[in-house]
Amino acid sequence: MTRSNTLFNEAVTLMPGGVNSPVRAFRAVGGDPVFFESAEGCHLHDVDGNSYIDYIGSWGPFILGHRHPRVVAALHAQLDRAMSFGAPTEIENALARKIIDMVPGIEMVRMVNSGTEATLSAIRLARAFTGRAKIIKFEGCYHGHGDSFLIKAGSGVATLGLPDSPGVTPATAGDTLTARYNDAESVEALIREFPDQVACIILEPVVGNMGCVPPAEGFLQSLRELCTREGVLLIFDEVMTGFRLAPGGAQELFGITPDLTTLGKIIGGGLPVGAYGGRRDIMEMVAPAGPMYQAGTLSGNPLAMTAGLETLNVLTEDPELYAKLDAQSAKLADGIRANVEELGLPFTSNRVGSMMTLFFTDRQVQSWDEAKTCDTGLYGSYFSEMLRRGIYLAPAQFEAAFVSVMHTDEDIARTVDASRESLKAIKNNS
Ligand SMILES: *Cc1c(COP(=O)(O)O)cnc(C)c1O
Repeated sequence: MTRSNTLFNEAVTLMPGGVNSPVRAFRAVGGDPVFFESAEGCHLHDVDGNSYIDYIGSWGPFILGHRHPRVVAALHAQLDRAMSFGAPTEIENALARKIIDMVPGIEMVRMVNSGTEATLSAIRLARAFTGRAKIIKFEGCYHGHGDSFLIKAGSGVATLGLPDSPGVTPATAGDTLTARYNDAESVEALIREFPDQVACIILEPVVGNMGCVPPAEGFLQSLRELCTREGVLLIFDEVMTGFRLAPGGAQELFGITPDLTTLGKIIGGGLPVGAYGGRRDIMEMVAPAGPMYQAGTLSGNPLAMTAGLETLNVLTEDPELYAKLDAQSAKLADGIRANVEELGLPFTSNRVGSMMTLFFTDRQVQSWDEAKTCDTGLYGSYFSEMLRRGIYLAPAQFEAAFVSVMHTDEDIARTVDASRESLKAIKNNS
């Protein structure tokens, strides 16, 4: 029995399922989770002395890799001054200004403590601003664990096969309408069915939470036009894509400006942070400037702001950073695709910048309808084969793999080799 096994056996007696967030428990792939001890760059070290190349990056935040020296130094300096006041600090101005400079759709911003807080605040704001009750989301998109979003949600909800979560009231669920991703007509139909009742459309502008699914040509544009015409607010949930696909996120990459944007993950540089922002006239409705209430004891705390600001500073210093990250990510995706072709396997893959997914299905994945045709059992076998070879992928099919700026040619080559051996192994077993 490994030390990870021993610790997990103890953990299940202490925490539900032994974890503090469901997908970590490896239920979708089998086996016990690995307990980690330390990390640097893109390398992880577990409690049994094994090392791994990391493609989770704490589920997205570590675009600069673990313990980037600049972020660590800034945090040490801040620790020597103060951890939190629950009162204003200069660094909050600095991070807010940086976000407003970087993200096209954000003129004003409010910091919170997680992506979940950001999305549930953003839809409350959309409802307050429009005076309408209903929201439209897309099947397979994940927006955190707020009640309104646990309807046909992606990520862990999809992985565990929970179509709806008990505890969400029928009244709440009834205000969430679901459309098909990459199908603007399915959205038009809902707006026709519920005239003047829809406050907002919220989506991942590039989906990460049913695996990586890019928007089809013109999809974001048609949503933008529809929203403007119908007085519906367009919310891009860029908790995952923000600062990952471009300095200004997916909205910069695709040139479509939403009314509100939600952020998280990278914006905290590895500490718990979220944010929502957008048009000034809408954001002025947030308390105490306006009547929509939203607050947070540790919101904007100096440690989290420091990690986020220093991360964004590093990301914007090198104008070639995103191009290099894209090129490195392409090497990985191309290498894995070549393995799949060489072995004659029918799997498909999607990639946008440093987000990618190998889908264990022969369908082109453009929405949840195709994603759910994946052979998740086979993905579980692949995951275990990769783990044995020192590659740490997400322990579930419906997630994206993330490449960081610390992944070297050697890391990528080792990963491509491991994927060839792993794919061979599952081909021979099936
Ligand atoms: C991770 C994620 C969230 C939730 O963020 P938490 O910090 O886990 O609450 C919301 N939306 C998207 C798109 C995400 O990827």
